[in-house]
Parts: sequence; structure tokens; C-alpha cells
Amino acid sequence: MKLVSYDGGFGRVEGDAVVPMGRDLVAYLGGNEMPADGQPRPLAEVTLLAPVPRPGKIVCVGLNYRDHAAETGKPVPTEPVLFAKFSNSVVGDTTTVDIPAVTAEVDWEAELGVVIGRRSTRVEVAEALDHVAGYTCLNDLSARDLQRSTSQWTRGKAIDGFLPMGPWLVTRVDVPDPQDLTISCVVNGRLAQSSSTREMVFGVAELVSFISQTMTLEPGDVIATGTPAGVGMAQDPPWFLGPGDEVVVEIERLGRLTTTMR
Ligand code: ZN
Repeated sequence: MKLVSYDGGFGRVEGDAVVPMGRDLVAYLGGNEMPADGQPRPLAEVTLLAPVPRPGKIVCVGLNYRDHAAETGKPVPTEPVLFAKFSNSVVGDTTTVDIPAVTAEVDWEAELGVVIGRRSTRVEVAEALDHVAGYTCLNDLSARDLQRSTSQWTRGKAIDGFLPMGPWLVTRVDVPDPQDLTISCVVNGRLAQSSSTREMVFGVAELVSFISQTMTLEPGDVIATGTPAGVGMAQDPPWFLGPGDEVVVEIERLGRLTTTMR
């Protein structure tokens, strides 16, 4: 099932229509909302938002693909490297994102997004996927010059609009193995990243378990699971995004997420 947040609430995609299911996806995942009545609307006529427009937490994982760690010259981590983004960064599919004047090195990162479905405190790896509501495409846009300027990455990562998410959440039952999905990023029509979630250092179940050992995850929290090789800063010569550039993240079963820079 594909769940969408849109200008009328949230619902599920059936064919070319959106069937309303309530006001808010996170309340629905938390069991606090009854399904709504309402007429289906054509998908083409609604304005899609990010499936989780304002996540309570966005936990990001750095250097979680072996080939990406190598291209940045960093060792493969022995435990997950966590950092944060905030809800100011979240935008939906086909959004135009402004490049702040203070950066000249905006880069793309195609990532599998995990949306938590159940309150999760110290869950075992074997049960961790039961706590996942579903999956979506993410683009962990990153200002490399700001990311590198201090020891903390936050300033270069948590920029307004720098976490495109969508176009929808595909529920867990429709993604039988999150570690067997092709993932790609196409920039201005040119293939930049092409990999599989099989190449992750720490898989989704390990990440949910690891994070929940110290941090209770709540319905609607989002985990950005890291990006494969092929980011702009590792190209020769380095390749950064400018006004008018188009970035398309595509993940098997999850669809395509398009972002234009301005
Ligand atoms: Zn990332």
C-alpha cells in the first residue's frame, strides 16, 4: 500500500486516485485516528507533501555503504555513525529547493528512508522490522563546505529543504526485503549513483535496534540509512549542484523522488 500526505490530509493511492484515510499519517500510525470518510480525489489533482511532513526525529546514518566510505577516504565504521536533521529540512516530491548563499558545494545523497510505525525502546534485531511502518525515498542534500568547516556536520546537513522525501510511503508488507532494493541517483539525466541496499554496512534491522538502545523511536520518526558511492564531491572533477539542476532518486518498489535546485 502507498500512503500519501497531501493538501487534504493523508490517504492511500488506489490506481489514479487518493482515498482519504484521515487527517494525519503520524496520528494514524500511532493508533490515535479513525479512518476518515471522504471522496477519492484524482492523484494528479492533489498536492503531495512528504509522506511524513514533520517527523518528530530524523536520525541519519553516515558512511553506511562500503564504497561510499572508501570514496570519502574514511574507514568503514565499526558501529553506526549517527547525526541528525530536523523537520525544517523535509519537503515532498517535485519541490524546488533554494541553495543558501553561504555554500558553493551542495551535493546529493540517494538514501532509503525508514519510517517507524511503533514505539521502539531497546528492540532486538530479530524483531526490529516489525517496528517499521514502511519505506520511502530520501535525498540527504548536503552542503559539503559547511559540513566540513567544523567537527559537527549539522550546519551543512540541517538546511531548509535539504531532505526531500517521497513521493509516498510504501508499507512494510510490500517490501519483503529492505536489503534487496536497487537504489540510484540521476543528476540532470546523468547516472551518478547506482547500487543496492544489499551494500549497506548496517542493515535496517540493525539500525533500528542500535538506535533504540539509547533513543526511543516513535511512530513517524524517520531513519536515513546512508548513501552509496557516486556523490558529487567524489567525482573527478567534483560536481556540485547549482540553480536549475534536477536530482532524481529512484529506489526499487518505492518510486522516484524529483528535486530541482534554485
Ligand atoms: Zn546521508
